[in-house]
Amino acid sequence: MTHHHTHRHLPTSRQAQEDADFDLIIVGGGLTGASLAMALADTTLKIALVDGRAPSRPQNWPAQWDSRVYAISPGSADFLSQIGCWSHLTRDRLQRVAKMCVFGDAGGEIEFSAFEIGTEELAWIVESAEIACELWTSVSRQRNVTCYCPAEPQVLCVSDASAALTLASGQILRAKLVVGADGRESWVRQQLGLESQHDPYDELGVVANFRTELPHFGTAYQWFRPDGVLAYLPLSGGEGDAHGRMMSMVWSAPETLARELLALSPEDLAYRVATAGEHKLGALELMAPAAGFPLKLVRVPQVVAARVALIGDAAHGIHPLTGHGVNLGFQDARVLAQLIRDARPVDDIGDFAFLSRYQRARKEEVLVLQSATDVMRKLFAANTPGLSPLRNLGLSLTNRLPLLKSLFIRYALER
Ligand SMILES: Cc1cc2nc3c(=O)[nH]c(=O)nc-3n(C[C@H](O)[C@H](O)[C@H](O)COP(=O)(O)OP(=O)(O)OC[C@H]3O[C@@H](n4cnc5c(N)ncnc54)[C@H](O)[C@@H]3O)c2cc1C
Repeated sequence: MTHHHTHRHLPTSRQAQEDADFDLIIVGGGLTGASLAMALADTTLKIALVDGRAPSRPQNWPAQWDSRVYAISPGSADFLSQIGCWSHLTRDRLQRVAKMCVFGDAGGEIEFSAFEIGTEELAWIVESAEIACELWTSVSRQRNVTCYCPAEPQVLCVSDASAALTLASGQILRAKLVVGADGRESWVRQQLGLESQHDPYDELGVVANFRTELPHFGTAYQWFRPDGVLAYLPLSGGEGDAHGRMMSMVWSAPETLARELLALSPEDLAYRVATAGEHKLGALELMAPAAGFPLKLVRVPQVVAARVALIGDAAHGIHPLTGHGVNLGFQDARVLAQLIRDARPVDDIGDFAFLSRYQRARKEEVLVLQSATDVMRKLFAANTPGLSPLRNLGLSLTNRLPLLKSLFIRYALER
């Protein structure tokens, strides 16, 4: 088998035509599914990775930037290093966040820096497509991973001894364990009838990238405004932008405002975002059309069942307020991979009791973060009716900022 070390195009499929037996089938080759496969790539496990479509970089890449970016925590960056992905990311598209400035009401402000907590960075800002494509390319080079893509799963049957996944092509894949890494509306979760509680936030996350008049020097900004939470995340700007004159905006806005923002001309949107951000980075210039994503809280009380485990967004949906979504997913993959790697020969990796260890290991962090983010959002939502007691106590938005700081720091320090 030859290993290619450079890929100009992303491999889309290595489609096996026959029925096949595996140790593990991963449905969903997004960030968390592909990272799980990579975390098990140097084992003897036979892995199938099934996805409807391969990730792609933006058109006109590298000139164009993906408008969906992630704040990758230091812990997730460690994990991506361990699985051999981090060093392959394009250096000049990674941006270190050295400092964060958060603004409340009436001029209130709180700052925290990597220096202050003794780390090199609070997070890294990286395009979603950059990580997704790198992971996908790496996964498709692994000799113990077979990619079924594009493939459409149709039926999932679980029996005492194994699980069987039937694809639209008619092929049947069997394995001891099926991992659902297929996102917020997880097909695997639905097939098994695993309960999920959905609480829409009636907000859209509006995202867009801008060139900025002033350099950001690695600072992220966030404003808690009466009309939602606005963040400016620093982008590296790539080659030729030594000072950092690019940023990615995420505005979690009530649906009506979000629709209004999305309908603005590029110039009007740039002006609106620059004004809402107090011109911290000067005038803005929109680089590509903005996009909006509906936000919701998704709680999944049981993330394992016999022969099945859920990871990533399939296991939890969270408000992007603190930018933790994808980091939770990477930690799911890391913990599950470690459990599987530590399995003794007598262990059945699809056994419910075995998988329950993964569920127990992840439960608390997911719960704490989901609840904390949800509470934060409610605390900072300026016009939430049920919150008058807080107002009456004189808790201004600014007084509530330290809560937020401790949440960020706790997460930044976690490895
Ligand atoms: C506006 C917005 C901003 C966000 N910002 C941040 C942020 O700043 N920081 C952060 O950490 N997180 C952020 N998130 C959350 C982040 O996008 C998710 O947590 C992350 O993408 C989850 O990864 P995943 O691999 O679990 O799922 P997904 O990325 O959804 O991947 C699922 C994969 O499964 C495949 N798939 C789905 N269904 C099927 C099927 N039936 N058959 C086959 N394949 C299937 C899909 O093709 C896809 O490849 C944000 C989300 C939104 C909406």
